[in-house]
Amino acid sequence: MVNFEFSEDEIRFRDSVREFAKRYIEPKWVEIDEKGRIPLDLIKKMGEQGLFAIPVPEEYGGMGGTMVMAAIAVEEIAYHDPSVAVAVYALLNNGWPLALALFGQEEAKMEILPKVASGDAFFGIASTEPQGGSDVAGIKTVAKKVGDKWIVNGEKSYISGVREIQELPEGGGFFFIAKTEKAVWSHKRITAFALLPKWNGKIKPGWKPTVFEEIGRHGISTGGFTLENFEIEDKYRIGEVNKGFYLVLQGFNIARTLVAAATIGSARWALDRAKEWLTTRKLFQGRPIASFEGISFKFAELYTELEAARYFVYKAAWMIDNTYLTKDPKFKPYDLNLPVAMAKLKAPEVTTRIYEEVLKWFGAYGYTKDCNLYRGWLGTFSYTIGAEGAQNIMRYIIARDVLGSEAVRNVWVKEEE
Ligand SMILES: Cc1cc2nc3c(=O)[nH]c(=O)nc-3n(C[C@H](O)[C@H](O)[C@H](O)COP(=O)(O)OP(=O)(O)OC[C@H]3O[C@@H](n4cnc5c(N)ncnc54)[C@H](O)[C@@H]3O)c2cc1C
Repeated sequence: MVNFEFSEDEIRFRDSVREFAKRYIEPKWVEIDEKGRIPLDLIKKMGEQGLFAIPVPEEYGGMGGTMVMAAIAVEEIAYHDPSVAVAVYALLNNGWPLALALFGQEEAKMEILPKVASGDAFFGIASTEPQGGSDVAGIKTVAKKVGDKWIVNGEKSYISGVREIQELPEGGGFFFIAKTEKAVWSHKRITAFALLPKWNGKIKPGWKPTVFEEIGRHGISTGGFTLENFEIEDKYRIGEVNKGFYLVLQGFNIARTLVAAATIGSARWALDRAKEWLTTRKLFQGRPIASFEGISFKFAELYTELEAARYFVYKAAWMIDNTYLTKDPKFKPYDLNLPVAMAKLKAPEVTTRIYEEVLKWFGAYGYTKDCNLYRGWLGTFSYTIGAEGAQNIMRYIIARDVLGSEAVRNVWVKEEE
């Protein structure tokens, strides 16, 4: 049976997130973007409100909710902080904790997830390296097994949350991937770990972070780090040795769905602002500018496109719930690649188009800092550029899954065995 409605529980949940975001996030979002920081007490409050680890089972301190609920929360948060910094913080700390809950070892899950859920620690993703993020099989960071520990050397770049880890009371870390033993180009030599550079309030030796200056979504940091003989206990290994590539891609499917939810929340805010402006801005003898078809028809197109993007987001979230949470045997992890790639392709690009039009509709005022639309434009553009996966990689996944991998081979596939 097809059902396009949220359940009563989901509506109640959406209303509670909306009320929270209106009260605690909306009054601060400009200051957060201006000062480049989400206040730690806001992160803590969000933890208390149950806005992190929503789809993580309660036994690990999560809310025992669903990905549909996580998407609802992220969309609402982004509506009230259209620069999306707070939504990005929330989406990372919902998506990657779920990936850890699905694939991590029991001891690590019990140790890490409750602290992330409460807002005392951060848990994001560290995959990208300076030589190119799209080529995951080409990562060069190496983890070598020595006794019951892994010794890691390498560098990660453009990683969200590097500063927050240092500032949060407990610290935190990342779903992290490294080449097992040696750095050859291969999908089959990657192992995943929970990397915790600061844990229990202490920074571990061998981790050197830097923070980059970005053009948007200033409230959450993006930086890089080097690892020099950094030690990881084997209990923090996620999944089997050399299976990390397949696990991180499943994590990306979860996180990309929430990325798409964040961008549509911000875009909805921009269109709501446009609605108000187009009906009250009057020109040519008192006509609202909405009366010019050059504007209202474009508005109608973008409104429709945004609604289409929302369907992609919630369909992908619903499929993830069926795959991992209710474990319906009809749903397989591999089948998520196509709907998630379509959501991640569509939502950020529609959002960018919406901002570009709405900014123009506001005329010169749109170009001022006072108008604040630019904060949403630059913040969400991080996902059109390619955070959580470049848009061409989404196109590649869609083309590969529809046309077949034999026909669509734009990546080099020869591997050393
Ligand atoms: C704000 C921000 C936050 C980020 N946070 C994180 C994070 O928390 N953790 C993390 O691991 N990474 C993070 N990233 C990095 C992100 O995952 C990468 O930017 C992304 O994977 C692309 O990698 P790249 O930037 O190195 O570009 P490249 O991979 O070098 O790609 C460059 C260009 O080539 C195109 N391209 C690449 N391969 C192909 C192909 N096969 N076919 C066609 N076109 C292709 C891409 O679309 C892109 O336009 C973040 C990035 C940004 C901007």
